[in-house]
Amino acid sequence: MRKFVIAGLTGAVALGLAATAGAQGKRTFISIGTGGPTGVYFAAGNAICRLVHKEAAEGRKSGRQHGIRCSAPSTGGSTYNIGQIAQGELDFGVAQSDWQFHAYNGSSTYKGKPFKKLRAVFSIHPEPLHIIVGGSSGIQGWDGLKGKRVNIGNAGSGQRGTMEFLMETASWKKDVFQLATELTSTEQSKALCDGKIDAFIYTVGVPNAGVSVATDGCGARIVNFDNDLAKGLVKKYPYYAWAKIPKGTYKTATEDVTTFGVMATFVSSADVAEQTVYEVTRAVMDNIEDFRKLHPAFRDLDPKKMISDGLSAPLHPGAARYYKEKGWM
Ligand code: GLU
Repeated sequence: MRKFVIAGLTGAVALGLAATAGAQGKRTFISIGTGGPTGVYFAAGNAICRLVHKEAAEGRKSGRQHGIRCSAPSTGGSTYNIGQIAQGELDFGVAQSDWQFHAYNGSSTYKGKPFKKLRAVFSIHPEPLHIIVGGSSGIQGWDGLKGKRVNIGNAGSGQRGTMEFLMETASWKKDVFQLATELTSTEQSKALCDGKIDAFIYTVGVPNAGVSVATDGCGARIVNFDNDLAKGLVKKYPYYAWAKIPKGTYKTATEDVTTFGVMATFVSSADVAEQTVYEVTRAVMDNIEDFRKLHPAFRDLDPKKMISDGLSAPLHPGAARYYKEKGWM
């Protein structure tokens, strides 16, 4: 009897919940792949979720409910995110513009296995390629990395992919280094400060906490990367552009640093529902002022540029719908 009553109650509670969920519309859970916890991707993914939830809260007052719940876990970075989106494990991800290009077009490490359902949503901040060297390493630029202990990045990260692409272009194999480590973006600064490596390569937004651990923390310097290799790459590939890391960004940046870089982009899959991508795009763009304040690397974000710069995969129809409504397309 007792058992029956409990079952009955549970049933009533379940019915009540179903009715509430029905009244509110369907709940959709989305996850956004980011990068290491000290990088800018992690801040970007969490900023996007925050705006999605802000819209949800405001919508509850005005009766316009999108029903989306969002999470943005730390991940291995660009190519990990693209791979997980292809598998349907992530709905969105942040990825470097060069890896968006290669994944969609089936070039570089995606040769023979293009991801044709990859869709662009918008681009975010520029990511200059940083060559970061120990304060007393004496390394002046790219060529100075030969014979040194260099972190080339963890598998799955954008900087690892880009570093391999650069090494291939320069006809360098791993053995040009005394040691090539595969540390994550969070581990590499500490390793440099502890004297375990001499330099690392990092494609990342400016400024960010990970780089300041090495520069402000133990006197590491960011060196120019504007040699013939860099010139050739910028000339040849549409996804590279010259970039500056302004003097004063970090304690040891006493001059502007000239280098080149990519864009951080926000991507999804053609399999993700148009309405979901529309709502996420809308939450970000309708609240762009708030977005700009959520990390100093987002300070100059301009929606007009975000809908075109660094995008090579087709726009997701949900994003395109919002941009057309706004008259931006
Ligand atoms: N560009 C890096 C990558 O693709 C991540 C940078 C960041 O975490 O902000 O892995």
